[in-house]
Amino acid sequence: MRLIRFGPDRHEHPGVELSDGRRVDLSGSFADWGPAFFNGGGLYQLRDLLARHAGSLPEVPASVRLGPPVPRPGKVVCIGLNYADHAAESGMDIPTEPVVFLKASNTVVGPYDDIVLPRGSVKTDWEVELGVVIGRDAKDLDSPEEAASFIAGYCISHDVSERAFQLEGTGQWTKGKSCDTFNPLGPWLVTTDEIADPRNLGLRLEVNGERMQDGNTRTMVFDVFFLVHYLSRFMTLEAGDVITTGTPPGVGLGMDPPRYLKPGDSVELSISGLGTQRQLVTPPRA
Ligand code: ZN
Repeated sequence: MRLIRFGPDRHEHPGVELSDGRRVDLSGSFADWGPAFFNGGGLYQLRDLLARHAGSLPEVPASVRLGPPVPRPGKVVCIGLNYADHAAESGMDIPTEPVVFLKASNTVVGPYDDIVLPRGSVKTDWEVELGVVIGRDAKDLDSPEEAASFIAGYCISHDVSERAFQLEGTGQWTKGKSCDTFNPLGPWLVTTDEIADPRNLGLRLEVNGERMQDGNTRTMVFDVFFLVHYLSRFMTLEAGDVITTGTPPGVGLGMDPPRYLKPGDSVELSISGLGTQRQLVTPPRA
C-alpha cells in the first residue's frame, strides 16, 4: 500500500494512492497515519478495508497538495556516513559503528513543498536518503532479523543540510540539519510487503535536471535491519518515528569546487518503488 496525506500544511487527511494511480480519501475511516494507527494494527484494518471497498472511496483530486506521508514524527533519527563512497568524498573514515544524530522533527514537510533557505545560509546542500518508518515500539531488540517486523514501510527522505551550520562551528551536526523545511518526506509511505529488499534500491537526485547522486542501498555500510536493531539499544523507537539512513555520494560538499543550492533551483529525488519528490529552493522568509 502507498499511504499518503493530503490537504493544507498541518491539516492533512489520510489517504492511499491505489495501484491504478487514483488517490482515495480514508479520513472517513481513520484519523491519521500516526502512532495510534500503527500501534493499533491499523495497517491490517486498512488492507482489509481496501480489499472490500477501494472502488467506493471518495477520490482526491490530483491538484490537492500532498503532505508528508506521516504526521510530525516523535523523532527523526539520522545515520551519518553510511555509504562508504560518501564517507570518502566527505574526507571522513568509514565508521566502524553507526554515526547517529537527530534532526528536529519540525523539519518534516511534504514531498513537493519548497525548501526555504535559512537566513544567512550560503552552503545548503542536498542528500537523497531511504527513510524507514517504525510500525511499533521497538526497545532492546535481540537481532537485526527481529527488526523487520518493527518497520511499517519506507519513503524518500531528503536530508537537507546547511554545511556551514553543520561543520564550521562546534562539533555537533544538529544545527545544520534542523532548519525549517529541511526534511521533505514522501510522496508515499510504501508498506514493507511492496518492497522486496530494502537493501537493493536505486537512489537518484538531480538539481535543475543535472544528475548529482546515483547510488544503491546495497552499498550501505549498515543496512536498515541492523540500524533498527542497533538504535533500539539506545532509545525506544516509537511507531511513526523516522530513521533517515544516510546518503550515497554526489552531495555538493564533495564537489570540486563545492556546489550549493540557490533560490530558483529545482531538486528532484527518486528511489526505486518509492516515487519521486520535487522541491523548489526559495530565499529566506522575511
Ligand atoms: Zn544525511
